Amino acid sequence: MIGELAALGAVAAGASARWNWWRPVVTGGMPTLMYHKIGDYPPGSELKKLWVTAADFRKQLQYLKDHGYTAIDFRDWRDAEKGIKPLPEKPVLITFDDGYMNNYELAFPLLKEFGMKGCIFLVYETMEKHNGWHNPKTEPWLKMLTWDQIREMQDSGLIEFGSHMMRHRNLAELPLDEVTWELTESKKRLEDKLGREMVGFAYPYGSGAYKPEVRRAALEAGYRFDFSVKQGISRLPWKREDEAVKRLLIRGDDNMLDFHLNMTRGKARF
Ligand SMILES: [Zn+2]
Repeated sequence: MIGELAALGAVAAGASARWNWWRPVVTGGMPTLMYHKIGDYPPGSELKKLWVTAADFRKQLQYLKDHGYTAIDFRDWRDAEKGIKPLPEKPVLITFDDGYMNNYELAFPLLKEFGMKGCIFLVYETMEKHNGWHNPKTEPWLKMLTWDQIREMQDSGLIEFGSHMMRHRNLAELPLDEVTWELTESKKRLEDKLGREMVGFAYPYGSGAYKPEVRRAALEAGYRFDFSVKQGISRLPWKREDEAVKRLLIRGDDNMLDFHLNMTRGKARF
C-alpha cells in the first residue's frame, strides 16, 4: 500500500480529472485490457485515443509483470471453467480489436519478449485488406493482418484469435437474420481458416451487447465468451447469463496512473 501511495503521489498533481484513487480496489476479477492500434497515430487520425505507442505498451506489459499478473487466453479461461486447469492467481486478458497489421509488427514482438499471451478479434472480410468500415476522413486506411501473419502468431502459442464479425457492422442496427449471419459465418470461416474453435468474440463498437435478442443470438451461435466495451472488471466466476465481459479501454493519452487505476479500480477517469 505504501508503494501504491508513493506511486500515486508522484503523479497526483496531474490527476485531478482521474477516477478517485481512494475508491475500493476491485479484487477477484478478470481485468481485460482493450487495445486497438499499437504505434504512432498517423497524420489526419481523429481516433488518436485508440493508438497506444509501442513505448507505452511496453511500460504497461512491464507493469503487469512487476505486479505478478499472468496473461491468459480464452482457452485457458475455458479450461478453468471446465475444471481442467485452474486460472493463475492474478489473471489478465490482453485483447486487441479489429486485427491491424501493427498488432503483428509492434505488439507481437513485445508480447513475445515478455512471454505474455494476447487475443486478437478479427474482422474476417477485411483481413489482407484495409479498415474499410472507417471513414477515411477520420482514420486513414490502415493495413490489416495477412493470413500468414495470423498463422505465425497462432503457431507461436501466444496469440489466440476471436471473431469481430464479417464486416464490422453495428449489430444493434441490423435485422436479426443478418446479426445471426455475422455471428455464425465469421465463426465458421475463421474456424475453417485457422483449424481452431472460436471461443470468444467482441461486438463491433460494443454494440448489441446490451440488446437482449442480439446477445441471445450471439450465445446461441456457440461462443463461450462475449466482450463488450463497458468499462470495468468482470468478477470471477463470470456469470455468462448476466452480461458480456467488461473491458478496460487503454487510451493513447493514458499515463501509468491511469493504467494502475484501470487495473485496480476498473476505471481511470470520470
Ligand atoms: Zn472494432
